[in-house]
Amino acid sequence: MKPIQMVDLVGQYQKIKSEVDAALQRVIDSAAFINGPEVKEFEKELAAYLKAEEVIACANGTDALQIAMMALGLKPGDEVITPSFTFVATVEVVALLGIEPVFADVLPGTFNIDPADIMRKITPKTKAIVPVHLFGQTADMDPIMAIAKEHDLFVIEDNCQAIGSDYTFSDGTKKKSGTIGHIGTTSFFPSKNLGCYGDGGAIFTNDDDLAKRIRKVCNHGSDVRYYHEVVGVNSRLDAMQAAILRIKLRKLDAYSAARNAVASTYDKAFADLAHISTPARSSNSDHVFHQYTMRVTGGHRDSLKQHLEAHGIPAMIYYPVSCHMQAAYKSTRFPEGSLPVTEQLTHEVLSLPMSTELDNEQLTHITDTVKGFFKQ
Ligand SMILES: *Cc1c(COP(=O)(O)O)cnc(C)c1O
Repeated sequence: MKPIQMVDLVGQYQKIKSEVDAALQRVIDSAAFINGPEVKEFEKELAAYLKAEEVIACANGTDALQIAMMALGLKPGDEVITPSFTFVATVEVVALLGIEPVFADVLPGTFNIDPADIMRKITPKTKAIVPVHLFGQTADMDPIMAIAKEHDLFVIEDNCQAIGSDYTFSDGTKKKSGTIGHIGTTSFFPSKNLGCYGDGGAIFTNDDDLAKRIRKVCNHGSDVRYYHEVVGVNSRLDAMQAAILRIKLRKLDAYSAARNAVASTYDKAFADLAHISTPARSSNSDHVFHQYTMRVTGGHRDSLKQHLEAHGIPAMIYYPVSCHMQAAYKSTRFPEGSLPVTEQLTHEVLSLPMSTELDNEQLTHITDTVKGFFKQ
């Protein structure tokens, strides 16, 4: 059996090696390393895939969030509502800009932000909501957009983990995750569903004026070289990464299907295990399974993780500590116990290997090992 990894990027590269190698050679021969045609073409192709008006590439997913907040003019004293059960980047950029992160709890099934708790957290200072489409499913955007409209708030979708998922509105229309709010952001970190071979990110919007402001912020606050109208940052995707992403974008739907096949295998194998809750499917979003994250109850999570590791199976806890319990972000406004679902999840979640390259032999070893643990 091939060794099992959380994500098998080498196996994935082997299947597209000739295309990737040729594309990289093309960029090197052109010497157009920064911006240039590869980046422009990738932005256009991703916009077409997402059915978004504009895609602006940038250096990583964390920058994408920061640039989105800068382009929207969020400033110190404003409040932004985010989940606490997320990767820290979401909250970090809020804090860096002097904005106050206000944490909403998540739903116990999908792990996505709870619209009812967003309502409870709105104050006169609230300026934006940042739903995070965690582990591959779009948060419940119908009620989130309704709340935003009623209270005149911006919505920035952190779509780092769900690129390619479709959200179905109550009237039956569908949109790609990340194209529903005012701005969507994503990361092309290698292990993400659409990953490059280094760092990368992008920002999406359907608003032309906002797109212009985003491009300006990315480019040192400048439209015309050496004239700077606003304070900006330097955040660019390089041409080699764009060339790789153009190839992988064409395979993204097939990659999502491969991830779903792995998830179905896990779901079936664990359906009868009393202490495992397999991931709940949202009633209005596709799942692209950035992670297969289950809940292990009865206090068995950490011993199951050890058992898997002893059998050559990596398993990860995303996330062991929620943002409001982190030393850097603790505040008296969100003491321990204030976000009960989030806090319970940090004790129960366990993510199994998930990649486009897991074979049947590896999957059987994983499912047998999980089942074996509960038979002991
Ligand atoms: C990966 C990730 C980010 C950050 O992306 P980077 O490219 O690593 O900066 C932000 N938010 C979420 C939810 C992520 O998963």
